[in-house]
Amino acid sequence: MNGIQLDLIVPCFNEVEALPGFYKQINEQLGGINWRLIFVNDGSRDDTEKIINDLVKMDPRVMGIHFSRNFGHQAAISAGIEQSSAQCVVVMDADGQDPPSLIPKMIDEWRKGFEVVYGVRARRKASLFLKFSYSMYYRIMKSISHFDLPLNAGDFCLLDSKVVTALRSYPEKRKYWRGLRGAVGFRQIGVPYDRPERDAGESKYTIFKLVSLAADGIFNMSFFPLRLCAFSGAFIAVGAVLFGVMMFVWYLSGIEIFGMMPGRVSGWTSLVMIMAFLSGVQLLFLGVMGEYISRIFIEVKDRPEYHIAYKTNEK
Ligand code: UDP
Ligand code: MG
Repeated sequence: MNGIQLDLIVPCFNEVEALPGFYKQINEQLGGINWRLIFVNDGSRDDTEKIINDLVKMDPRVMGIHFSRNFGHQAAISAGIEQSSAQCVVVMDADGQDPPSLIPKMIDEWRKGFEVVYGVRARRKASLFLKFSYSMYYRIMKSISHFDLPLNAGDFCLLDSKVVTALRSYPEKRKYWRGLRGAVGFRQIGVPYDRPERDAGESKYTIFKLVSLAADGIFNMSFFPLRLCAFSGAFIAVGAVLFGVMMFVWYLSGIEIFGMMPGRVSGWTSLVMIMAFLSGVQLLFLGVMGEYISRIFIEVKDRPEYHIAYKTNEK
């Protein structure tokens, strides 16, 4: 292990309960490695800032990047990627759910020549509903993405500095890091691990943030939803033409079915059902387009991804 330089990027949002234990674990698990901890404080409202600055004073291997407000987990990873300079970079959460004990195994794979080593959640501790949703989501992502995205792999990974350089060249403002990691290529491998529960505190991902991340995964990495709209639009249009022909033949035939005949004014229920269905489909398609348009809007405005209030112990 000796001689290797490792930058650990750790986004933190209100992690006052988890940080001391996390720092201790890193110290215990990464003996013999020349590491640096880059804490990115994503606008925490608790004492996270103070704890990071205390750690900085105590240990010169720790640095802090403090955001001017909460910009989100993915933006915090961006700031860490921008800051890192070591030959290997690890992206991990501050709550112990990305176990530091896996890092030596990741380094072993890196030594074998893999430039991207990502953690694969073999088993995870969560509610049945969440487990099912995650599993479905990863499957959908894998099948519709334009890139090779592994199943059950989150942001926890080790990256070679070559990959970090490649990742820095993506100019987009709204990043989905695990997707971009798949997009860069290089030699990649997964290392399975059991994802434990949080060491301390509550999840900082609200349901809104989680859905927003999931949407970024789909709409940032794939055109498939747009294609699906176009294909189903075409399918419905062809169906409508056939339906029209059928109605015309029925009209000419003068046959009565269930008391209905196209010539008479009846069939209100079926008409309302068809209209309701088609309006629903149209609104859904508009929504899908809205997802892409809002992303174009964000990229076109080119606003900064985050603002740094100050850094401590920058080298
Ligand atoms: N996080 C962040 N900004 C946010 C939300 C979360 O930097 O707006 C950090 C958080 O401190 C943690 C990591 O992102 O280190 C993952 O968040 P969390 O553990 O709450 O998510 P979960 O594991 O429950 O999906
Ligand atoms: Mg977590």
